[in-house]
Amino acid sequence: MDLAATARERGIKYFLIAFADLFGTLRAKLVPAAAIAQMQRDGAGFAGFAAWLDMTPADPDILAIPDPDSLVQLPWKPEVGWVAADPWMAGKPVEQAPRLVLKRAIAAAAAQGLSMQTGVECEFFLIAPDGTAISDPADRQAKPCYDQSALMRRYDVIAEICDAMLALGWHPYQNDHEDANGQFEMNWQYAPALITADRHAFFKFMVKSIAEKHGLRATFMPKPFIDLTGSGCHAHVSLWRGDENVFADADGDLGLSALAYQFLGGVLGHAEALCALTNPTVNSYKRINAATTTSGATWSPNTVTYGGNNRTHMIRIPDAGRFEFRLADGAANPYLLQAGLLAAGLDGLARKSDPGTRLDIDMYTAGHTVTDVRRLPLNLLDALRAFEGDATLREALGAPFADAYVKLKTQDWNAYARHLTPWERETTLDC
Ligand SMILES: [Mg+2]
Repeated sequence: MDLAATARERGIKYFLIAFADLFGTLRAKLVPAAAIAQMQRDGAGFAGFAAWLDMTPADPDILAIPDPDSLVQLPWKPEVGWVAADPWMAGKPVEQAPRLVLKRAIAAAAAQGLSMQTGVECEFFLIAPDGTAISDPADRQAKPCYDQSALMRRYDVIAEICDAMLALGWHPYQNDHEDANGQFEMNWQYAPALITADRHAFFKFMVKSIAEKHGLRATFMPKPFIDLTGSGCHAHVSLWRGDENVFADADGDLGLSALAYQFLGGVLGHAEALCALTNPTVNSYKRINAATTTSGATWSPNTVTYGGNNRTHMIRIPDAGRFEFRLADGAANPYLLQAGLLAAGLDGLARKSDPGTRLDIDMYTAGHTVTDVRRLPLNLLDALRAFEGDATLREALGAPFADAYVKLKTQDWNAYARHLTPWERETTLDC
């Protein structure tokens, strides 16, 4: 697609050429349509050190080459076109760039004739602009999930976002108030992994932008309020060979094929390491492993287990032909979430992994009765160490990526550890 011609046809005045860095932050240049032809060819220049990419101030420019297939006109400002870009440096792709990491995983699947379809369920809070409280003081039910009145008090925001997704052809199909006061979820149709990842990245930008327009603030922070349910980002996964869903098998247990169970086994097998990607912040570990919330359940997993249509496990099999990965949270980098899932699943296929027996128990009330299950990491550092020790994921996602990610995220952990918290003072002053 010729972006200059498209700009003329669709009235686009500016392009945002954007890439997600290792922390999932979107970095962009705003480029006038008059300059887009050259940018489409040569890329937009950035100083890599200024983003989270593990580069130095001495490194040459990175050039972000836009992927025209990802073009989205901002629904709230159609004169601006957003394009996801892939960073290059010194004539080579930047191997640690998350979108390129995902593309590598997709290529590994494609080499076996396979492609992953995935849909994400991004939960978020609408809060006051200063970030201290939810935005709707009347949203106070102890069990607020699906609260019709609280949902409709935010109709103007939710409908504007949903209208935008309808116009973009994402096929949204439902919106609800979620299980925490002030929390919402909007669902659109699943798609190939790269398309979903681009949409996921754009969705977060769109929700924040439209919320701001309405005088609110949207946050995808995993656990912004300690006593309320956190924001997950569940992913529904299936693997396809051409038009055939190879996870589906009418004769298989719960409608899943032997291959699906191998893939699932791979995801379970790498769970602790995957946490570093799917639960990438200090705050993430206050959502998983959490104490019961005011609604009665955290809805997040504590253990590396799978079940049938049962939301208390890391993986749920809700229906034939797919499974739901319930571990990831709102802070997950959209590209690394899918790359990690696919790489872990493909390893499961390579090893013909056995996921073990399904657990059909309520893990929240009966979890203590099973002693031989693995527990999820209790903090970011444990997850990073698990990721660092996972040679298979390192190989699949690329050593430059794995090294850069662990280095920057360990710095992140160390920055956190240098904080003196009120809890420490309260519990340690009289030691
Ligand atoms: Mg949900």
